[in-house]
Amino acid sequence: MDQGTELQALQQAYAAELPQRLAAIAACWDRLCEQGWERQTLQQMHLLVHRLAGSGSTFGFPGLSETARDIEQGLRAWLEAGTLPGEPERQRIQPLLFQLAEMGGAPQYPQDLLPIHRRSTKGQHERPLVYLLEDDRELARQLARQLAHFGYYVHTFGNTAELERTVENRRPDALIMDIILPEGDSAGTQAAERIQQRFNEELPIIFQSRRDDFLARLGAVRAGASAYLVKPVDIDLVIEYLERFRGCREEAPYKIMLVDDDEPLAERTALVLRQAGMEVTVFNRTRDVLDGLMDKRPELILMDMYMQECSGLELTKIIRQHNEFLRIPIVYLSTETDIDLQMLAMRMGGDDFLTKPIEDGHLVDAVSIRAERARVLGKFMVLDSLTGLDNHTRLKEQLEAELSRCNRNGSCMSFAMLDIDHFKRVNDNYGHLTGDRIIRNLAKLIKRRVRKSDIVGRYGGEEFAVIFPDCDAENACQILDEIRRNFSQITHMHNNIAFRVTFSAGVAQYHTGMNAEQFTRVADESLYAAKEAGRNRVITHTGLR
Ligand code: GH3
Ligand code: MG
Ligand code: MG
Repeated sequence: MDQGTELQALQQAYAAELPQRLAAIAACWDRLCEQGWERQTLQQMHLLVHRLAGSGSTFGFPGLSETARDIEQGLRAWLEAGTLPGEPERQRIQPLLFQLAEMGGAPQYPQDLLPIHRRSTKGQHERPLVYLLEDDRELARQLARQLAHFGYYVHTFGNTAELERTVENRRPDALIMDIILPEGDSAGTQAAERIQQRFNEELPIIFQSRRDDFLARLGAVRAGASAYLVKPVDIDLVIEYLERFRGCREEAPYKIMLVDDDEPLAERTALVLRQAGMEVTVFNRTRDVLDGLMDKRPELILMDMYMQECSGLELTKIIRQHNEFLRIPIVYLSTETDIDLQMLAMRMGGDDFLTKPIEDGHLVDAVSIRAERARVLGKFMVLDSLTGLDNHTRLKEQLEAELSRCNRNGSCMSFAMLDIDHFKRVNDNYGHLTGDRIIRNLAKLIKRRVRKSDIVGRYGGEEFAVIFPDCDAENACQILDEIRRNFSQITHMHNNIAFRVTFSAGVAQYHTGMNAEQFTRVADESLYAAKEAGRNRVITHTGLR
């Protein structure tokens, strides 16, 4: 079902359900009139009318929303005052209820889903395609092999004609080009210029050449070069540029949690946000929210203000009792009649409000702006500035969260600590900057090779840690060992000196009842064992690998 159809289906379901909703309201009213003014029934009626006010116009019944709001105000006044309505007040409500019943027929206007721009959701783990133009066969082979370690798919070309033909058929994610070729001393830049003219959007190009003169660099700039490297090139730098190109284009979809006990309305809101490329999970029951947070790790919570079991404010307080959820922004969805609650929330330093009903386009904008801001701010707080991985604090939070998840549902997980071997020597021999670059590239290599659900962090200096949810130690060891092999084969460069670097890793597997400290200690002991056993290896406490 496409999303337009899905929306229509929701719309129809709402319309079909409407008589029932109205009957439930009428039943409450009848009970109140016949059996006396009992608080619980009044509360129930208030909730039903409140929902109707919040959802009606969204599903094409604006008059319904208006009348419901009117009734709601009356009910709320009685609830708050704790008084019984007098006869005149009751008589004011009665006709409004009749009015409601009449409006439940056909929607007043058809609702269409606005054409909302969808964010690109091209998978982060799709192998990026790189074309390499290099007439030195051996050099091309080496570079292609090194790039393959990082998960790039490389297609090598020996001359410009062949490259240009292929580019026409399939646009790569990036180009790496030599400049001096058999066709001429500027053949690379000239070909690049022709290639760029084919595309509306500039293709990322890295030039690598023995030429280091002004004219060659100017030619590269005019051909839209993104980077210019003088041979022999440092693979770490090439990777850094390639990753940067990817980073510009790909952002993971925003993860949104929607908490609203009005199911049809929640489904509809979710649909609108999904259509805009966001990942939305819906919770209709407030009591499920905490587990959902552990599970889904949303970046933003969109929460109804007024719900049956507890109010949005109360739920917020419960969420904020957990340190790991302190930072998730909470945006309330509330109706205009919630104004007192809104003020209260503001005074308590509440995050933000959106007033229902809200137009689809506005909803998408409002949520994505807030989610983006949260993501940017969050990055400063939880990411390591050198590698972009989770920092130590964040990693520990994540470990706690995963541990409690395991304790709850009995699933397994592994935790690994990695440490670069003899890194002090690397710094001493090739300088701190080169050391930093190697740290960054190991970070990228790990990130690239583990599953999306695995959590990679920089534990400190040249130490990393990986949390592998739903993965036993044996599997984790296998994955790490492959990374280890790849990393050890990468040739790093410094002032024309080529060298290699290795790392050691220790893996711990979770056992029931373990706490974070014990878990970390086992991993650390395994790492120490790997160092003792001669480095460049992965060890788990169950034995050597
Ligand atoms: P081992 O194989 O036993 O791990 O030897 P090692 O030399 O790697 O171990 P040690 O812990 O003695 O040294 C770690 C070095 O890593 C020392 C420190 O200067 C360096 N280092 C830590 N953080 C960074 C960083 O951010 N950048 C760079 N370039 N070096 C760092
Ligand atoms: Mg160390
Ligand atoms: Mg070390």
